[in-house]
Amino acid sequence: MRKPTLEELRTRVHGQTIAARDEAYEAARKVYNGMIDRRPRVIVRCTDVTDVMASVEFAREQGLDLSVRGGSHSVPGFGTNDGGVVIDLAQMNGVRVDPQARTVRAEGGCTWGGFNHATYAFGLATTGGIIASTGIAGLTLGGGIGYLSRAFGLTCDNLISADVVTADGRFLVASKKENEDLFWALRGGGGNFGVVTSFEYQLHPVKDIVAGLFFFPVARARDVLEFYREFIETAPEELGMFPAFQIAPPLPFIPEGEHGKTFSILVCCWTGKPDSAEKVFAPIRNVAPIVAEMVAPMPYPVINGMFDPLLPAGLQHYWKADFATRLTDGAIKAHLEYGPKVPVVSSTMHIYPINGACNRVAADATAFAYRDAKFATVIAGMWPDPADNEKNIKWVKDYYHAVHPNSLAGGYVNFMAGDDQDRIRDNYKGNYDRLVAIKRTYDPANLFHMNQNIKP
Ligand SMILES: Cc1cc2nc3c(=O)[nH]c(=O)nc-3n(C[C@H](O)[C@H](O)[C@H](O)COP(=O)(O)OP(=O)(O)OC[C@H]3O[C@@H](n4cnc5c(N)ncnc54)[C@H](O)[C@@H]3O)c2cc1C
Repeated sequence: MRKPTLEELRTRVHGQTIAARDEAYEAARKVYNGMIDRRPRVIVRCTDVTDVMASVEFAREQGLDLSVRGGSHSVPGFGTNDGGVVIDLAQMNGVRVDPQARTVRAEGGCTWGGFNHATYAFGLATTGGIIASTGIAGLTLGGGIGYLSRAFGLTCDNLISADVVTADGRFLVASKKENEDLFWALRGGGGNFGVVTSFEYQLHPVKDIVAGLFFFPVARARDVLEFYREFIETAPEELGMFPAFQIAPPLPFIPEGEHGKTFSILVCCWTGKPDSAEKVFAPIRNVAPIVAEMVAPMPYPVINGMFDPLLPAGLQHYWKADFATRLTDGAIKAHLEYGPKVPVVSSTMHIYPINGACNRVAADATAFAYRDAKFATVIAGMWPDPADNEKNIKWVKDYYHAVHPNSLAGGYVNFMAGDDQDRIRDNYKGNYDRLVAIKRTYDPANLFHMNQNIKP
């Protein structure tokens, strides 16, 4: 069969096809992680499913690498490649809410900012990421952890169906009723199985929340972490919460003399009755002296966008991650050694709780296997200057090597580094073999390999 040429691809798609000779190329080839500097042969800014089908066929027939990009937040930069095809879905970002059924259909290029903006009008939300610019696609396909996970499960637990273009160019619907094996794999298996052009989710009544940010002296980090590990086990599930090490940015609620100093902090999002927030937050006030705090009612989309100004596109990123069933004394010791050394204001370490509703799903019900894990830890190195790469990567690696022996073998695929491909079997433990079998069915030639790759 004759291979389609780039010129033919241009005539087949409605969206822009951007190659090196085009003015838009320099901007279009960039991904969120500024460390990634790759030069694809063509970037297709798809506008509909037809564009996606044509791009998949072009990459397959030309034997080129294929990257699929939603929000572009992949830290290892899987959303681009050298010399291959990039399917950029950013322009496919429509959202349609069904307020009666409490469901929503959102296209694959949506970000959580766009998604929450659309669902907030109806007083509805589902579990999503803590940063507005993160894409719904990559996040959902890897699992999805956020403020609402304890109450409503992972993002993938709220997925009702997905429209998928597979490696052979077919358009399939995956749900509990159709292509059930594919639907199972999409809920945690990452971008290994096809291009998801739209997602349908269950929504829940969430509108205005009460946020709480508490800054404690870093010298009291042990008290904060020991408090958190006990408190979060039994705290009401309407409480989303995580501890972090954080250099104080120059924000009005932080006394000026404290700006630039490192703190042990707790970030809280209360989705229960607003007037019970104070009662729920009360034990936090006894943990240690509070240097700065911000407790305020706000629309849910506001907390979702709260940290975005700290994290503009183009920072250098290097992350490492683990799951844990318990925050052991050994883990806390490691956090106390490396957390206070967080090098820059944008870098951090978060320990997300994945108990509550996340744990009520069976380990083999979706591809996301760690239903016994209580915590997802991420050491997120994010800094502006490439000249500081060595120093910052060393901080992440040293920190990770200290925490990892206190953790489970696998970690959350969406927080994994590019050098973590040897952990893939561990990341899926008992579900790995079934994922391989489904990969063989839907992508036997491994066209979709720019990801934490499940090899057919
Ligand atoms: C600043 C920041 C904050 C984050 N916060 C959270 C958080 O709160 N919770 C959380 O769970 N994770 C979080 N993450 C991790 C995030 O889930 C992953 O980076 C995820 O891959 C981002 O998805 P994306 O669509 O933005 O990325 P992209 O780079 O666009 O995509 C990542 C990968 O997903 C696959 N993919 C993307 N779109 C599609 C599609 N339509 N069809 C098939 N495959 C596709 C591809 O394999 C692609 O390489 C965060 C990451 C960053 C950088």
